[in-house]
This record gives sequence, structure tokens and C-alpha cells, in this order.
Amino acid sequence: VSPLSDYPSRRLAYHDGSCHRCGVTADLVRISEFGKATCRRCFPASFRARVYRCLRRYQMLQPREVVGVAVSGGKDSAALLHTLHYWQQQNRWRVQAVHVDMGSGEYSAECRQVVGELTERLGVRLVVESVAAYGVTIEPVSTFAQCSVCGAVRRALLDRAGLREGWAGIATGHTLDDRLLQMLKRLMCGRLDAPRPVLPGDAAHPRKIKPLCLIPDEASELYVQLENLPYVETLCPQFNPDSHRLKEVFQLMETLAPMSKQQVVNTLQRAMREAPPGGPDAPCPDCGHPTASGLCPLCRLQRAANPAHRAAPQRSEPPDD
Ligand SMILES: [Zn+2]
Ligand SMILES: [Zn+2]
Repeated sequence: VSPLSDYPSRRLAYHDGSCHRCGVTADLVRISEFGKATCRRCFPASFRARVYRCLRRYQMLQPREVVGVAVSGGKDSAALLHTLHYWQQQNRWRVQAVHVDMGSGEYSAECRQVVGELTERLGVRLVVESVAAYGVTIEPVSTFAQCSVCGAVRRALLDRAGLREGWAGIATGHTLDDRLLQMLKRLMCGRLDAPRPVLPGDAAHPRKIKPLCLIPDEASELYVQLENLPYVETLCPQFNPDSHRLKEVFQLMETLAPMSKQQVVNTLQRAMREAPPGGPDAPCPDCGHPTASGLCPLCRLQRAANPAHRAAPQRSEPPDD
């Protein structure tokens, strides 16, 4: 497929015959979203510079702040942790890692092991939040698919870990493709609130930052390979590939109109208004943790698993280990 001839693309610098950093002409990486060609040796530095620009542009972290990086075991969060750790000293922020163990058999065990390996190699403190410690298992609840339940529980546990640890922010590995996917899904549901690169925190939620939001999926994959970082290559057995098939459309769009992915995200970001501030979260009637959804996702699962039992959960916080 060749690019559209009538697309008002900028000069296609990523087609240049040499690395924009060191000038070599061999082993070039051409990722159109990066705008320029880079050799494989210079690519990791180019990747980190791009993440750094994003951190600066959106003022994601301040000096002396401690950030918890949510690591799943996958490539995006591995690249994110490695990059934030790389910039840690120069910027005087402190990086820790948090992993939510979803307790779903072999897959979760593999993720936990890989995350342990990665954090040990970097010398980064790892906090593990285990779903099992709350006495629940991830099951579909009423009309919500397992993946949405999993996502809600993961977010709830990340919030709890962040508040308990006193982190200024929690960084997640959402990429440019993830952001565009989320925007389009919202538009298709008639929602006009754009997902934002930074969600300011409040008393119940640490700030959320997405430092990979200018990074396409294929770049984080190349980064972990070139930096030789451990990551889980298999997908979660519950993952429904159909839920991400719009990414195939983005890829075609990017091929036909290079740099259009970022352009569409930028334009949508301006066109979609900011989410109106919701009211303050109310305490969950079962466990007391602030939540926007009446019952918090963990207690919702506990009630679904045991409809007769509506007493307090077994533990409001997981044991220290
Ligand atoms: Zn180079
Ligand atoms: Zn609760």
C-alpha cells in the first residue's frame, strides 16, 4: 500500500536514507509516527526522548515525587518502567512498581514472575496487590464481560496501593493506539469526553499519568526487544481480540496517511470536551473505600459471588508481605 498522494503529509522524513541521530545508513527503523528514521542502535534513545517530551509537555511528574508504575508483565508497561527508571536520577523523581496479581492461574503466575525479574534487574521496589487477598475471583458480573470487571478491579486496586504507599501518581502503559481506540469507542457510544494523558488526583485517587501516549504499539515492542527486557508475549486467555480490531484500521490509516494517527488524536483531543467533574466519591457501603459507583468493584464481586452474605468484606486491605 502506498501513501495517499493527496494527503497533506509533512515531509516524509522517516523515508530518509540515514539515521537522524548518527547518520548511519544501515539497519534503519522506520516508524512513521516518530517522523524520522533511526538506526536500531539509536532507537532506544529516540524512544526515551519521545517519552520524556510527553512527560514534560503534560507536566506529568515533579522533582522528588514518587511514582508507582503499573506493570502487568506486558511489553508496554515494561518499556514504561525501564524508561521512567532511566530518567529517574536526572529528574530526581523516584520510581516504584506495582503489579496487580489477578489470580487467574498459570497466566497470572507467569506475569508475576516476569515482573519480578524486570524490577529486580532495575533495582526497583515492587508492590504486589493480589486480588485473592480480597477474597474475590474475577468473574463476569451481570452484563459486564470479564475483561471490564478485570479492568475495574485493577483500577480499584491500583488506587488503593497508590494511596497506601503515598505515591504522587500512578503511571500506566497506555500507548497512542490505546488512546485513539479509547477515543473512538467513546465517540461511538456518543460520549464527548476525551481520555486525557493526565488525570489529576484527589483524596481518593492518586494522579494518573500515561507517559506512552505519544508512542505507537509497534515502538514499545521494538524497545523491549532492543533493550532485552523480560515480558510476557502470550495474551491473557480472557483477552477478546475483537475488542482491539479497530487498531487494524488505525494501522491502515497510518500507512495510507503517515502521521495521521497522532494528528487525529490531537484534533479529537481539542474537539472532545473535558469530562465534567464528577461529584466527590462516596464511601462504599461495604468496605468504606471511596468509589464513584455506589458499591466498589471489589465488593460488587464479593456480593455477586455470595448474594446472601452482605456483611463487611473479609479484609479491607490485603496483608503486608
Ligand atoms: Zn543512529
Ligand atoms: Zn467496597
